[in-house]
Amino acid sequence: MTDKLSFKSRKIRLLIKLAVALIILAAAVSFTRYVYLSLRPKNRAAMFSSIAFPTLIIDAGHGGTDGGAVSPNGVVEAGINLDIARRLQLVAQFYGFDTVMTRREADIAYPQDAKTLRQRKQYDQKTRLKLINSTPNSVFISIHQNIYPKAAPFGAQVLYSPTDGSRELGVTVQELLKSTLNTDTRTNRRGAVKVQKSIYLMNSLKCKAILVECGFLSNPQDESVLQEAAYQTKLAAIIFSGFCRNLSGKYPVAPVEKPADAQEPDDQNTPTYHLTEDLL
Ligand SMILES: [Zn+2]
Repeated sequence: MTDKLSFKSRKIRLLIKLAVALIILAAAVSFTRYVYLSLRPKNRAAMFSSIAFPTLIIDAGHGGTDGGAVSPNGVVEAGINLDIARRLQLVAQFYGFDTVMTRREADIAYPQDAKTLRQRKQYDQKTRLKLINSTPNSVFISIHQNIYPKAAPFGAQVLYSPTDGSRELGVTVQELLKSTLNTDTRTNRRGAVKVQKSIYLMNSLKCKAILVECGFLSNPQDESVLQEAAYQTKLAAIIFSGFCRNLSGKYPVAPVEKPADAQEPDDQNTPTYHLTEDLL
């Protein structure tokens, strides 16, 4: 009898404990749901943005009827930009990042009324800008090739937009490019520079943004390696590495030590001659 009662009371106590646990769990779920739903969508996004990785927007400069810079041997910038941009996308996707490409093909579908180069460029730049500014939590990296009236200037140069965090990203990518490319006999002493005010896209977007001039099509050695698949992959990997390093908050990177006898190449930090965004 006693055993039976004791068994019964243990069972009742267990049921009570279970009921209390369920009530607490239900209350916790309701409260969490209430807090979540009471936040406006905007606030909800803000709550999670601190833990969400940014979307990497990759921009292959020029395209369509705008080929960009053309080397003395006839190598066109737009094709090299697309090759490097595609490789950058592959690397970023491999590491699980969401990516957006501003163009995927050599051609661009222009509207019927865009007939002149100027009209087509305007349409293209505004379409890209709309895509960039409508992508939340994004970082923008534009790929270009430089050109100069003289053959001597070589090496990569990073330009950064005036938006928050762009300078830090630009400096990080520039330093990595300098420490990993052109290191044998040539020395790239370029520093990251703020983009000229005339460059419409880079001055109109809202997110963190850099423009990477991967090399000079006017320099024979750069012109040659920029067309090589291995060099393009290396560039993509270095740029992505800079992007990740910047995400981790490691800034500034230490400036790269140069040998004392390093030759100073001509025209460091040269302006770009191929960016036609000032047509706008
Ligand atoms: Zn360009």
